[in-house]
Amino acid sequence: MAELFTLQIITPDRIFYDQPVEMVELTTTEGQMGIYARHIPLTAVVSPGILTIHQEDGPREAALMSGFIQVLPEKVTILAEVAEWPEDIDENRAKEAKARAERRLKSGSPEVDMARAEMALKRAIVRLEVSK
Ligand code: ATP
Repeated sequence: MAELFTLQIITPDRIFYDQPVEMVELTTTEGQMGIYARHIPLTAVVSPGILTIHQEDGPREAALMSGFIQVLPEKVTILAEVAEWPEDIDENRAKEAKARAERRLKSGSPEVDMARAEMALKRAIVRLEVSK
């Protein structure tokens, strides 16, 4: 059995998660990360992706959009701007956001902020994946 460490995830309006876990997987601007206990200390910037929390009783998924992660050997803290459990996600809203972002990206219009549309598309895809 893997050694446990404390994972705390704080969003602007709640303590989203605060429990001992075996491993956590998430996406950062540096790429995919999988963190076990006793990881070397580091900080990173969170990118939109699926957060997988490996609890002793099995894995749990959430959508994690942006924020910062601080890794210490016995504690990992994520300050998230937006984090959602599957049941928090409005699937229709995410489908609409996906269609809107795709329309903007296809338009080629100089008025469209392509980087912003790409990030919106990523968030929508993550939400649809997690809510499945
Ligand atoms: P939208 O264009 O639909 O607002 P977005 O990706 O721009 O989507 P965010 O900026 O990531 O939205 O989030 C803004 C707020 O709206 C957050 O509180 C987030 O939890 C909530 N939110 C966004 N999309 C959804 C969804 N599909 N279901 C539930 N909550 C959502």
